[in-house]
Amino acid sequence: MKQSLAIDFNRHLTALVRLPGDSDVAILRKKVYLAGLSGITLIVVILHLGTWGQLPPLPLHYGLVFLGVSLIEIVLFIWLKRGLEYFLFFSITFSNLWAFSFILALGGITHSCGLFLTGLACLVWSMVYPSARLLWWGFFLFALTLILTAGLEPYLPPGPSMPPFVSIYLYVVNSLWMSANILLLIFYIFRREKEMAQEKAVRLEETDALRSRLFANIAHEFRTPLTLIRGMAELVREDPSHGRKERTEVIERSADKVLHLVDEMLNLARLEAGAMPLHVVQSDIARFLRHLVDTFAGLAEHRKVRLHFLPETDTLWMDFDPEKVEGIIGNLLSNGLKYTPSGGDVYLGFHLFSDAPERLVIRVRDTGVGIPPEKMSYIFDRFYRIEDDTRQATGGSGIGLTLVREYVKLIGGEITVSSKPGEGSEFTVILPVTRQAPVQMPLAHPAETGQANRFPGDDRAAVASDVARADGTGPDSLPCLLVIEDNPDMCEFLQLVLGRKYRILSARNGDEGVRMAVDHVPDLILSDVMMPGMDGFQVCRTLKKDFRTSHIPIVLLTARADSSSRVTGLEAGADAYLAKPFNRRELFACLQNLFTQREKLRIKYASIGQLNIEYPSAGPDERFMAQVQNVLEANYADESFGIENLLKSLGISRVQLHRKLTALTGEPASHYIRKFRLKKARHLLCTTSKSVAEVAYATGFSDPNYFSRVFTQAFDMTPTELRNHPTRPS
Ligand code: ADP
Repeated sequence: MKQSLAIDFNRHLTALVRLPGDSDVAILRKKVYLAGLSGITLIVVILHLGTWGQLPPLPLHYGLVFLGVSLIEIVLFIWLKRGLEYFLFFSITFSNLWAFSFILALGGITHSCGLFLTGLACLVWSMVYPSARLLWWGFFLFALTLILTAGLEPYLPPGPSMPPFVSIYLYVVNSLWMSANILLLIFYIFRREKEMAQEKAVRLEETDALRSRLFANIAHEFRTPLTLIRGMAELVREDPSHGRKERTEVIERSADKVLHLVDEMLNLARLEAGAMPLHVVQSDIARFLRHLVDTFAGLAEHRKVRLHFLPETDTLWMDFDPEKVEGIIGNLLSNGLKYTPSGGDVYLGFHLFSDAPERLVIRVRDTGVGIPPEKMSYIFDRFYRIEDDTRQATGGSGIGLTLVREYVKLIGGEITVSSKPGEGSEFTVILPVTRQAPVQMPLAHPAETGQANRFPGDDRAAVASDVARADGTGPDSLPCLLVIEDNPDMCEFLQLVLGRKYRILSARNGDEGVRMAVDHVPDLILSDVMMPGMDGFQVCRTLKKDFRTSHIPIVLLTARADSSSRVTGLEAGADAYLAKPFNRRELFACLQNLFTQREKLRIKYASIGQLNIEYPSAGPDERFMAQVQNVLEANYADESFGIENLLKSLGISRVQLHRKLTALTGEPASHYIRKFRLKKARHLLCTTSKSVAEVAYATGFSDPNYFSRVFTQAFDMTPTELRNHPTRPS
């Protein structure tokens, strides 16, 4: 009870002084200030009340002045909640001067009843604020006024005489006040230590989380190409005569990617250690940049982003290190394309500032997701990545911009960035222009600098080998598998591995994947988790919520093998989770497993008339089947009722109905409707005395002969036989 009262009081006090953005220690300081000031005010009140009627007018007036000023100070501070240093400065100055003049009026230190301690109390009090000048000022005032009062003592007229009990009383209260201030300071130091320890623990936890995220990111960057290398090598070993060229190309590209990542990390280490040499040549940088932009054309097309080159002139000769310029501009273009959704634009432009010193200004602008202002100062930090909803699951190591900044520093340039979330970003690189290096003819094409096609996550070369993606490959009779994967090599690899067992559709990002899943209703979905735009988890959630696709088993394929990602995946409704690098047998076993599970479900849904959607955990599949059965229940007697009417009632397309119903019951829609009618007919034959023809008409068959034929096929006995042996099993 007592404790909760204290907690309540503390909460109210915190609310009185807190400003948004205040740290715990800042709040604590404000509270100590307020407590000190309120304490002294309270003491003045106590002094007055305790000596009521005994005090001569002089101390009374001094007391009232102090009370008035302190109250104004308290109210003002609670109102402003800021400027603690100025408030302390004022309090210290005012208290010292007030005590000084009061002591003089009382006739000197010996008659001051301990008032000379005021300055010392203020000094202790001001220690809560970490300001050396405040401390020095407090000490200076205290020492000065003390020395002055001591020096002036012999010349002072005697003050008003006070009864001895009042003197002692004032002495005791003043000393207590001083001790209370020391106590407050000790309390403050203890609390601050505790809060700082807590803050440190939180910071450590954050660093820890950052480190795990960093490892997860880098692991992801490595795992995908390593899966490809392992998988393709296995394929080549097992079947060396088939597609060897393409497969070894994928292996080479993936190895290049791993190498590039290692190169980047080593380059960064060399740059940071100041051990990266410059190889400057004099050449045409305009042409160089144009070629560089050209090498990104494939990636831009793949990402459906328009890439524009806006040169100020067609030729511009100057000194530059092609490898470093490519490192800078290539990374900026690669980021621009990575963080711009399809339909957007990325521009590379440059112009020359011919005022001395001559400078080249290169701008890379995009209309992408932008960078939140509060994150702007971190993006050049090593391994820093922004991970928010707008850029979820885009791969990356967080090294790119750090390298860019180091390269720019190395060549004596500058880089700035401006950005608006949701509108885009602009990176401006300013390079010094000189023309003293040996002229290089012909100009180095980016590919010749050894860096081309190896930017993280861009797969510029791989795009060229993009396989038939949107159209399904493989014979129609095979189960249909939708692969959602943004890495073309990985996609190609999966097609190679799975193409004989499945008819494969492929989507290159989450949004396209969802669209294709709804349009084609595949039997199974294999989706990557880290993709630009909608990530694998979102794809999963979206499809599992949609009754048209909720039945499709989804396997998430990911480099993020940590348990929290697995949990997120399973919570999103994924049926299985496969971590890269995986091997083919694992993948096959996983897919086969899901098909077997589906078979079990089919048996459940194929049995007509047993669904109970009132059951609270009824999923979208159960609800869908119940809806189908309700529509059929209401219409089976109507002979004109057919698939078209069912489609209309359910509000879905023919393909969707067909694929969904086949997946859930193993039967196409027309068979399912007929089966429903036959079951109804069977029930009528067993429970009523209607003739076979009447039963046929009552269940939507216009031709009793046809009815008898299909009935016999379905139940292995004629309607009349059933009537005669109603208990015979069908
Ligand atoms: P990453 O490998 O994550 O792309 P970078 O060092 O290249 O690492 O970039 C650091 C972060 O800055 C990225 O995670 C990204 O969120 C942000 N960023 C960089 N360029 C852009 C851009 N053009 N638009 C939006 N965000 C960007």
